[in-house]
Order: sequence, then C-alpha cells, then structure tokens
Amino acid sequence: MDIDSGLAGKVALVSGGSRGIGRATVELFARDGMDVVFFYRDHAQAAQQVVDAVRAAGGRCEAMRADITDAAAVNDAVEHIVERRGRIDVLVNNAGIVRDNLLGMLEDEDIRAVLDTNVVGVFNLTRAVARHMISKRSGRIINLSSVAGDKGGRGQSNYAASKGAINAFTKAMAVELASRKITVNCVAPGVIETEMSQQVRELADDQIKARILLRRYGQAQDVAHAVWFLASRFADYITGQVLHVDGGFKME
Ligand code: NAD
Repeated sequence: MDIDSGLAGKVALVSGGSRGIGRATVELFARDGMDVVFFYRDHAQAAQQVVDAVRAAGGRCEAMRADITDAAAVNDAVEHIVERRGRIDVLVNNAGIVRDNLLGMLEDEDIRAVLDTNVVGVFNLTRAVARHMISKRSGRIINLSSVAGDKGGRGQSNYAASKGAINAFTKAMAVELASRKITVNCVAPGVIETEMSQQVRELADDQIKARILLRRYGQAQDVAHAVWFLASRFADYITGQVLHVDGGFKME
C-alpha cells in the first residue's frame, strides 16, 4: 500500500495560522511538502516566527495580513496567491474567536464579532477560493467547527450558534461542490490547549476534564492530524462530514 498523502507540492491556504491549531496545521502541511500560505490579523511577530520556523526546517511558507471579516481584503489576498501560485488546492477555514458570556450579559458587539468572524469570515474566504477550485475541478475545504456546535455550552450561545452554522454550511457546500470534485468537511475539536481555551480551562478545569472520556485536553497537533487526513488522498471518498476530535466529550 502506498502511504504517500499526495500533498507534496500542493498549495494550502490556512486562516489564522500564527498560533494554536492554525500554526500546528501550517507546520504539519509544510512538513509534508506543501506550499503553505496563511492569513493572520494582528500578530505580525508571531506570524513571522512561524514562517521562520517552517523555512528553517526546509519547508515553504508565507504569511499574509488579512482580516477574514473584510471581504474585499480577502478577495485581494486570494487573487494575489492564485496569480503567483496558479492555484489553491486546500483551504482550511481555521480563524475563529470566542466572546463567552451568559446571554443577558452579551453586548451587541460580542454577538456580532463572533458571528462576523466565525461565520461571515468563512463565507468570505470560501467564496473567494472556491471559484478557483471550481475552475480546476479539484479542491479540499476543511472548516474548523467545535464540540459547541452540537453539544452546546453554558455562556457560549454566540459561539455555539456560529459553529452550528459552520456544520450546516459544510454540508450545504459539500452538496454544492461535489460535482466539481471538491470535498468539504469539518473538524470539530473539543477542548484544546491553546490561548483560545485558556480562560475556560482555568475557570473549570476539573468539571471539563470530568466530561472528557480520555480525561485530558487535546493538543493543537491532535487537531492538525485530522485536518491533514481530510486534506490527504486518504480522504478522497469523504465529504460533508463532521470529524470530532474531542477525546470523547460528553454532555454529562
Ligand atoms: P487561537 O485563538 O489560538 O487562534 C485563532 C487564530 O485566528 C489567531 O491567530 C487569530 O489571530 C486568528 N483570527 C481571529 N480572527 C481573525 C480574523 N478576523 N481574520 C484573520 N485571522 C483571525 O484559537 P485556536 O484554539 O487555535 O482555534 C482555531 C479554531 O479552532 C477556531 O476556529 C476555534 O473556534 C476552533 N476550536 C478551538 C477549540 C479550542 O479548545 N482551542 C475548540 C473547538 C474549536
């Protein structure tokens, strides 16, 4: 059996690649020989560190500043990538934010910012990239959802709504793009040790771990492995799925 992933030489675009799950994905893709471009929004220094680390290890990587909530900026950045590289083979919609609070305490901005980034941002980037994939009759789109998308979570109504939307978006896009030989899948992480989950882990460490069958938090690499699998040729016959990477997370 050939265990080559088929990813070497392909072009990947990852949103939010300067830290956390995005960074782990960028590094894994580059290690497998992909030409990786990632978007970052604020952390220019962190982004440069990722680029330097990947290049030092012999990989190909470029960072671009682009806020995924800005449709025009996203279109420009994607056009720039396609002009220079000719194609985008794999898109990972990874960038996301949380603004946790009980419903009555949520400010308008907490609701809007989460839906704007986690949902509208994914629309912006997918629309910009999909048209190039359609013209090539080939592509992989992998969206980062969350366990919150179907299991809920106290103080996470805005985030849960955004990730539930991503699960639904994934299935609709899988239907729409299947005839163009593009697969669309989701990875739904549980609680992963990144900056995003730091506050919730500090607040409720024991309670959260009691709900995880494996009794530990996940690592960014655990999620990156699942993203890599869905991008690889081993997932050729998988589309419209939500792959949970959560150590067996349960409600009670
Ligand atoms: P993180 O906060 O460590 O990293 C998110 C990255 O997205 C950051 O680099 C940030 O700058 C970038 N980003 C945010 N808004 C952006 C915007 N408008 N434009 C461009 N970039 C933007 O988060 P993470 O833990 O690595 O999470 C990655 C993804 O996985 C997110 O979609 C998140 O919702 C999801 N997820 C994370 C967990 C977890 O426990 N960490 C659990 C479930 C799902």
